[in-house]
Amino acid sequence: MKELFRLLSYGRRYWAHLLGSVALMAMAGAATGILPLLSAPVLYDVLFANAPDKPVPLGRDPMFGHEFYLNDFVPSGIHNIWAVVAFAIVAAFFIKGLCDYIGNYLINYVGFSAVMNLRNTVFEKVLKQGAEFFEAHSTGRLMSSIMNDIDKVQVATSHILADFLRQLFTAAALLCVVMGKGGKLALVSIVALPLVMLPTIRLGRRIRRTSRRTQERQAELTQILQETLSGHMVVKAFGAEAYEIRRFREAARKLLKTNVQYVLQQALSSPLIEMVSAAAIVALLWYARAQILAHQLTTRDFSAFVFALLMLLEPVKRLVGIHNIFEQALGASQKVFEYLDHVEEIVDHPGALNLARFSRSVAFENVSFRYPGAPNGFHLESASLEVRAGEVVALVGPSGAGKTTLANLTARFYDVTDGAVKIDGRDVREVNLASLRAQIGIVAQDTFLFNDTVANNIAYGRAGATLEEIRGAAETALAHEFIERLPEGYDTIVGDRGAKLSGGQRQRLAIARALLKNAPILILDEATSHLDAESEMLVQRALANLMEHRTVIVIAHRLSTIRRADKIVVLEKGRIREVGTHEELVGQGGIYQRLHELQFMDAGSVVDL
Ligand code: ADP
Repeated sequence: MKELFRLLSYGRRYWAHLLGSVALMAMAGAATGILPLLSAPVLYDVLFANAPDKPVPLGRDPMFGHEFYLNDFVPSGIHNIWAVVAFAIVAAFFIKGLCDYIGNYLINYVGFSAVMNLRNTVFEKVLKQGAEFFEAHSTGRLMSSIMNDIDKVQVATSHILADFLRQLFTAAALLCVVMGKGGKLALVSIVALPLVMLPTIRLGRRIRRTSRRTQERQAELTQILQETLSGHMVVKAFGAEAYEIRRFREAARKLLKTNVQYVLQQALSSPLIEMVSAAAIVALLWYARAQILAHQLTTRDFSAFVFALLMLLEPVKRLVGIHNIFEQALGASQKVFEYLDHVEEIVDHPGALNLARFSRSVAFENVSFRYPGAPNGFHLESASLEVRAGEVVALVGPSGAGKTTLANLTARFYDVTDGAVKIDGRDVREVNLASLRAQIGIVAQDTFLFNDTVANNIAYGRAGATLEEIRGAAETALAHEFIERLPEGYDTIVGDRGAKLSGGQRQRLAIARALLKNAPILILDEATSHLDAESEMLVQRALANLMEHRTVIVIAHRLSTIRRADKIVVLEKGRIREVGTHEELVGQGGIYQRLHELQFMDAGSVVDL
């Protein structure tokens, strides 16, 4: 119930639509209630060939027992009461149809809007999460939740909510007829109603469980889909198509199983209701016969009563079905709410200041760091380092030494476990994230390009950039020439992750992107990539242009970069072991010398430390 109200709260700004819809649905329900009132006596009259002008009773005043007749409401000039009844029936259907139509539109508007708001909120929330969250939740699962799970909620809040209101009001109106016409009989049937619903309500809990399982299976399937599609080259290169197809089929079969289970549980409610209802109706007929024989009930009233009662069966059945779909939606919404309630790890602290334009230094003060969820031991331990404005600092060391970790802490992708990272003397945790990250340009090892135009990829994060600025950045990044040769120049779509470009071209776009951002601090992960000599040279020159007048922390793999660095920081097993220039370190007999001898035999070439 709590979840339902929470879901509805996303539609609260559409309360006027909701109210309008409720009113219209109530009118449609009332119009449905009029039908048995009108049709039953007419049917009765037709069956028993009564005179057409016999008064048509509508009901009894509950206070004084005064009987109302349709004839009382018909102008005295009209004698053919049947014609009036016939017209009234058509009119009732018309009103019902019109109210249903508009009411349905309004409630669906509320439902779809609420779900849109929910989806937007979840997307925003997920995007604000730190790296830790994305490590704990797979992309496939997140995609499945934001799409499939919210779709289920959508069904429940739009279509089903509309149906729920309609059936509820119809049931209420019919119930009034049943009560008005049936007397004691009605009481018996009202007591029987919850009994009819009881077994299916109990089914609800099971349905919710099955629904949660369906979500799991759907997420598994999305995960496989997402992985194989984005890794299609690897799949092909390793001849793993058959393996992936098998994996996909297996997951699809599991989903089928839970879907069938859901349908079975869902379908059970209808026969259950019908069976119990049949028994109840037989009992009622039995009892009614006794009442009619005792002159406590007229056959005309009884016919309206039975008519309404039979009509009531459908909305009751639907209401129970709706209850089950709600259960399913609530099951699905749980995961969504879990994401919404997830506390973001990396947020602006209260009173966070704007970081002024970088001018002095980036300092790591006794920094220790352990990845969340990792067992004991630090991935970075007591690291102290100062990078002064304008310096180029090269991080070197064996793979897994903690170079990326150290670089990532600068942009506060994680918070340090101990110690502090300070920029111009300010702890990065004290300043607001936007102002911190605005100062830092990042060129990572694998460039991520969006499936958008070249220009938009370069201007990513700088929506207002002019074409001149974009072109200027591309020129400095030595990308302008190749871009001009693309079929549509700067308007060429680069494909998924930039698939239509070569590795070197992608890197130069990333460099242009960083140039346009024009951040004073640069974090560079030199690619160990396998570029041909020419691309390599272009990328190197583009990087040199980018590094000019900037403070650079570079995870270095190339001897040329390392030689040029003002400071080389040698990391090993999460600790800073040596700091100095190439000349200072190379003859020391330490780790750097060993690495140098091992790796830089072929001096000047691309090396992988
Ligand atoms: P380098 O960049 O020097 O190759 P990293 O900084 O990437 O090394 O990694 C340092 C250590 O931290 C490695 O032992 C690695 O396994 C671990 N590590 C890196 N990223 C994560 C992560 N997201 N979660 C847990 N451990 C990680």
